[in-house]
Amino acid sequence: MAGGEASGTRKSIAIIGGGVAGLCAGCYAQMNGYEATVYEMHSLPGGVCTAWKRNGYTVDSCIHWLLGSGPASGFHKLWREVGALRGLTIVDLDEFMRVECKGSPALVFYRDVDRLERHLLELGPEDAKPIRELTNAIRKFTRFDMPVDKAPELYTVWDKFLMGARMVPLGPAFMKWRKVTVADFAKRLKSPALREAFGAMLGEFDSFPMLGLIMPLAWQEMKTAGYPLGGSMPFVRNIEKRLLDLGGQIRYSSRVSQILVEEGVGGSVARAVGVRLVDGTEHRADVVISAADGRTTIFDMLGGRFADDAVRKPYEGGMTPFSPLLYVGLGIADPLDGIPQVGSGISFPLDPKVEIDGKARDRLSMMVYNFDPALAPAGKTTVIVMISADYDRWKALREDPVRYRAEKELAAERVIDALEQRIPGIRAKVEMRDVATPVTWERYTGNWRGSYEGWLMTGQSLGKQMSKTLPGLSGFYMVGQWVAPGGGLPPAVSTGRHVVQILCKNDGRRFVALEP
Ligand SMILES: Cc1cc2nc3c(=O)[nH]c(=O)nc-3n(C[C@H](O)[C@H](O)[C@H](O)COP(=O)(O)OP(=O)(O)OC[C@H]3O[C@@H](n4cnc5c(N)ncnc54)[C@H](O)[C@@H]3O)c2cc1C
Repeated sequence: MAGGEASGTRKSIAIIGGGVAGLCAGCYAQMNGYEATVYEMHSLPGGVCTAWKRNGYTVDSCIHWLLGSGPASGFHKLWREVGALRGLTIVDLDEFMRVECKGSPALVFYRDVDRLERHLLELGPEDAKPIRELTNAIRKFTRFDMPVDKAPELYTVWDKFLMGARMVPLGPAFMKWRKVTVADFAKRLKSPALREAFGAMLGEFDSFPMLGLIMPLAWQEMKTAGYPLGGSMPFVRNIEKRLLDLGGQIRYSSRVSQILVEEGVGGSVARAVGVRLVDGTEHRADVVISAADGRTTIFDMLGGRFADDAVRKPYEGGMTPFSPLLYVGLGIADPLDGIPQVGSGISFPLDPKVEIDGKARDRLSMMVYNFDPALAPAGKTTVIVMISADYDRWKALREDPVRYRAEKELAAERVIDALEQRIPGIRAKVEMRDVATPVTWERYTGNWRGSYEGWLMTGQSLGKQMSKTLPGLSGFYMVGQWVAPGGGLPPAVSTGRHVVQILCKNDGRRFVALEP
């Protein structure tokens, strides 16, 4: 046995995974008198919230917008507690998303809702009714901030009553827009420009509820979903520092293979008592929190022993993980200052279609980081193209390293061909190219089938509470994107906080959370 054991009277917690959820759980554990040790298989913190350097360019793999970047969201307080925003400059760009179309002007999702409404009415005056329904819904949601500081598992009857009362003015809008999908909304539109633009957002997101678009637009208007200059790594390093400053430990290159379980005696349930690493070492702890991939945790680290039908259901088709990505990063020797600055990407049409990753594509989406000089050498720009990809195809290709590399190179070539249609002359300025596949995500972060954000958000899964414990196992909790459908950074911080609140309650302690 080594490390992580309880010293004196302080309870020890072994946390599996040093992504944002694991680091945040560790911070809250330390603030509350527990001894947290994070076991991370990679040599870096961050999990999928990461970035890598290539030839002086930074390929950022996460933050486009951070809910809680500004004080209008309850998440702001949580990010401050874990020190995530320290020293960072947040930018709230005017354009959240841009969908360019073939024969009509681009649809721009402006941050400012009044401007968005005027723009939509110009594009499709005949659609005034659905447009006003949409923009009024955005305005309505700017008046609501979801309480996130308390674990829902600890809600009292009074908390539930207060929550219900807060929801009353929003209830009908919430129920309506949760059911209406982007596809349903697109069908209602008559104007060719709007039909094309909303149609362009379909595909994987056919079943995506409009609420999943309305809420981020409300947060944009509230200036609480901005972008931290420098991208994901400075944000993650801030949380890592906070954990270390609080006295927590992080062990890198420490892959957990098994969660140690002691059988219950005299009718008591089994108990998680530590972790075993792939090098065979065992590390005892009073509590185990897994912030790693859900499937691996439940079915590999615990051998499926504590998975009843309800636990198995999502993994057996009851829920859908986010489709994994083919992620092409390019370093461009040009400031690209003629391209609009857009926080969540520009979707543009391809004519003729371009075959990328085995499919003829009529549209592509690019992130042009011309608003973040930290990601490229002076006067140059990082461009990223994200494409939903077929996990099984890339998994099979990986078996043959020569073909795998050739397919990656081909994908980069085709992406550059496609970009030439939108930015003529770009090919000659490409001085760095980098391709990550679904297998890359799986290999570096352990996420099931390379999913980059856990469970896809649908009308059914939106707001769904998933259990953070497993039946028949005490001393064990799960946090992060696999217990919060829709994933993202916000539940990474809140689930960590909530589990430590539950621990404090069980141990008869008052939960404290301090800002550094
Ligand atoms: C391209 C992209 C864009 C995104 N954009 C946004 C955005 O704009 N806003 C937003 O809020 N979210 C965004 N996200 C999603 C967000 O990054 C994730 O939902 C969030 O970071 C998940 O954090 P996590 O800690 O739950 O999981 P992970 O990041 O997956 O962390 C799990 C950790 O566990 C480790 N691990 C796994 N198995 C083991 C093991 N056996 N032993 C030890 N360690 C193990 C992994 O290495 C990893 O570090 C984006 C993600 C991607 C990929």
